[in-house]
Amino acid sequence: MRKEVKDMLNPRVKLFIATCLVLLSAVVCFASDEVITQVSTIDALMSGVYDGVTTLGELRKNGDLGTGTLDRLDGELILLDGVFYQVTIDGTVVKPDLGTKTPFAAVTFFTADRSLKLKVGSNFREFTDGTEKWFPSRNIFYAVKMTGTFRSVKARSVPSQKRPYRPLDEIAKTQPIFEFKNVTGTVVGFWCPPFVKGTGIPGYHLHFITSDKKAGGHILDFVAGDVTAEFDDTREFFLILPDDDDFDKADLARDRTTELKAVEK
Ligand code: ZN
Repeated sequence: MRKEVKDMLNPRVKLFIATCLVLLSAVVCFASDEVITQVSTIDALMSGVYDGVTTLGELRKNGDLGTGTLDRLDGELILLDGVFYQVTIDGTVVKPDLGTKTPFAAVTFFTADRSLKLKVGSNFREFTDGTEKWFPSRNIFYAVKMTGTFRSVKARSVPSQKRPYRPLDEIAKTQPIFEFKNVTGTVVGFWCPPFVKGTGIPGYHLHFITSDKKAGGHILDFVAGDVTAEFDDTREFFLILPDDDDFDKADLARDRTTELKAVEK
């Protein structure tokens, strides 16, 4: 009798184990590195939601490359090879504490799917036009990493803010701009498809850091020297909305395309 029960259970046990294995492999398949994780929306940042909500330590669990800003808009954030860098208001770089919070950032684990050499002497506009024609699709995301020597890089940073917070396009009018000549370094960031408008930044959003990790900023323009660009095709986008009063009360219905252009260029 005992043996019969054992025989009857055996197929069930086998089925249970098989089901577990299938579920486990499904979890492994879906837990991909091919995802961009973003904190907050660009329109929330544009409207002045500047208080940090996610620590850099938390953010680093979701990527080794990325861009963003820091608590109270305190400079430009760069994540390169798993290390965070903060470009301060004078263009110099410090390593922020992992407990520092960010109000807006995007990160991913970078693995190159395609690469190209930039035409020597080409600027940001030409790079944008050329790569947008070259991409296999303009409906997916690309994480970007460019390494090499630039004839010039024009970059900016943003100053830390105090309440009451002013909108970003007002702050950007007085942003400090730095110009680097014949500089070696790395560019990190993303190209996002047009349909992310309001949530992310359509087109390129790139940050620069010199190879000695001493200076950098949010890229406004560049002229390429000997530069290789690598792209990580990405079809997953994970959005973390701030659990924050300012965010909950922000007017995010308004179209901020014009203000965004003023801020990004
Ligand atoms: Zn930026």
